[in-house]
Amino acid sequence: MSVQVVSAAAAAKVPEVELKDLSPSEAEPQLGLSTAAVSAMAPPAGGGDPEAPAPAAERPPAPGPGSGPAAALSPAAGKVPQASAMKRSDPHHQHQRHRDGGEALVSPDGTVTEAPRTVKKQIQFADQKQEFNKRPTKIGRRSLSRSISQSSTDSYSSAASYTDSSDDETSPRDKQQKNSKGSSDFCVKNIKQAEFGRREIEIAEQEMPALMALRKRAQGEKPLAGAKIVGCTHITAQTAVLMETLGALGAQCRWAACNIYSTLNEVAAALAENGFPVFAWKGESEDDFWWCIDRCVNVEGWQPNMILDDGGDLTHWIYKKYPNMFKKIKGIVEESVTGVHRLYQLSKAGKLCVPAMNVNDSVTKQKFDNLYCCRESILDGLKRTTDMMFGGKQVVVCGYGEVGKGCCAALKAMGSIVYVTEIDPICALQACMDGFRLVKLNEVIRQVDIVITCTGNKNVVTREHLDRMKNSCIVCNMGHSNTEIDVASLRTPELTWERVRSQVDHVIWPDGKRIVLLAEGRLLNLSCSTVPTFVLSITATTQALALIELYNAPEGRYKQDVYLLPKKMDEYVASLHLPTFDAHLTELTDEQAKYLGLNKNGPFKPNYYRY
Ligand code: NAD
Repeated sequence: MSVQVVSAAAAAKVPEVELKDLSPSEAEPQLGLSTAAVSAMAPPAGGGDPEAPAPAAERPPAPGPGSGPAAALSPAAGKVPQASAMKRSDPHHQHQRHRDGGEALVSPDGTVTEAPRTVKKQIQFADQKQEFNKRPTKIGRRSLSRSISQSSTDSYSSAASYTDSSDDETSPRDKQQKNSKGSSDFCVKNIKQAEFGRREIEIAEQEMPALMALRKRAQGEKPLAGAKIVGCTHITAQTAVLMETLGALGAQCRWAACNIYSTLNEVAAALAENGFPVFAWKGESEDDFWWCIDRCVNVEGWQPNMILDDGGDLTHWIYKKYPNMFKKIKGIVEESVTGVHRLYQLSKAGKLCVPAMNVNDSVTKQKFDNLYCCRESILDGLKRTTDMMFGGKQVVVCGYGEVGKGCCAALKAMGSIVYVTEIDPICALQACMDGFRLVKLNEVIRQVDIVITCTGNKNVVTREHLDRMKNSCIVCNMGHSNTEIDVASLRTPELTWERVRSQVDHVIWPDGKRIVLLAEGRLLNLSCSTVPTFVLSITATTQALALIELYNAPEGRYKQDVYLLPKKMDEYVASLHLPTFDAHLTELTDEQAKYLGLNKNGPFKPNYYRY
């Protein structure tokens, strides 16, 4: 199969400024999907034919036989195509439902009074899964998968209740732990939780069809053989599926968390048990955070040659501490708005010393993860932490980008009265046209029940705003960093902090007014709730393909700049997820293709198309 999207012109390289200035035809990258990443996957049902060769004009010069990793992935060399260019519950509930349907009583200090029945639960899950596999239709498969996913919440609560509370206070850094194979090259909360984490990973696998397909197709072919990937992302079941897929494709991985609250301890344990050097646990201190990153990078006899980052902290650490490592690093794949922003800054300053893939601005990341993931998880995060009712509540959402749009849509659907703040007139106009009142934060700060930040910016909610909020106002952040709310300004002697639940603080003013601060201003959904696996599957597939592309790209294809994945690769990632919905994609007729000036197999939109 063949769909190598690359061509240097692949000038899928779209640094921000260039994209703005080019005419449409200039901006359109000369794609010639060679075959790489794309062919590593099954052709999408109902989609275009990814095996069809791209038109000559779009095809990049084929690399000579044996030239570079692309050859190893070419159709002739095997089935795996060479890659082409191309991302939770607390023990505060009185009752936690165990997977076997029984309830455990949880005391206020989180102690479970009913003994867990580990073995029984595991057997039951295996049975459920067999049932699931027997189901013949996609619809049956999906609905069961959903019901399993739903129970993952219970499972996590249950799993959390198995935590050995006796050593809860001991920092993982002070523990001596080994996995069953005797390795101690990891640092997680409790390696004994691995079994529960494994179940979470298996549940996530059900909703990550493209990665599972990639794993299957890539057996034998190892497009990431020799890759040494150091990663810094949220460590969730979905990330685990990505990491294990990268492992199956031949990569060695070392991983840290990009957020001190979002690690699922059980999942980190399962990865460590499976031999992945993971350094992460929920509730790391700032010092732990950098220590974990350092343990991934600063290893004797192992040096990374690829970076997968979410937020840019890992990249920043390597730049600061180990700049020489960039001599061996072939590329950076960055997922977040924040991290991408840092990369563009480095690039503009002429300090970016390796090629970087901006995954955030891939349509399949930005328009799905940022929007749909947040649309579904904002309510979950708020509900789990506060048990609040949304109908009729006044909410202000700061920032009407993709994340803000998702939050606003969800809250509006629940009957909340939603206000929006924006700095960009275009996004502001969108908010108005979508029926939201555009305000300055000052204008509504005294009356709102909830404040949500989604800007990727800093000091959006200042101490002055916090002083003026009404009693019981809930304040939270959905942006990547904890910079949006000035939480530091609340750590003053006149204010009292009361931890009322895990991740929920009441900050109390001298007059008795209190605000409800969630996750200490860190991103709410990943800190306090689960996120929809299917959406993350789309992002994770895009990341995997970006890694394959950068790792296999012949010398010179990518310069020291920030690149976008070719459009065709975005389309391919999307098409791989359509069969889940039993979706039937319409194919262009020859006549229509000619009329629109398109290749029947895509790309279907110019690069400047905004969806
Ligand atoms: P975006 O750039 O599309 O939107 C951010 C918006 O905030 C922009 O429209 C910008 O004009 C606006 N803005 C900036 N400063 C502002 C200010 N002071 N007041 C009001 N508005 C302001 O970015 P996005 O994709 O929506 O992502 C936003 C943040 O969320 C980023 O930090 C990103 O990394 C993060 N993110 C979080 C999740 C999650 O699951 N919680 C998922 C994806 C992205």
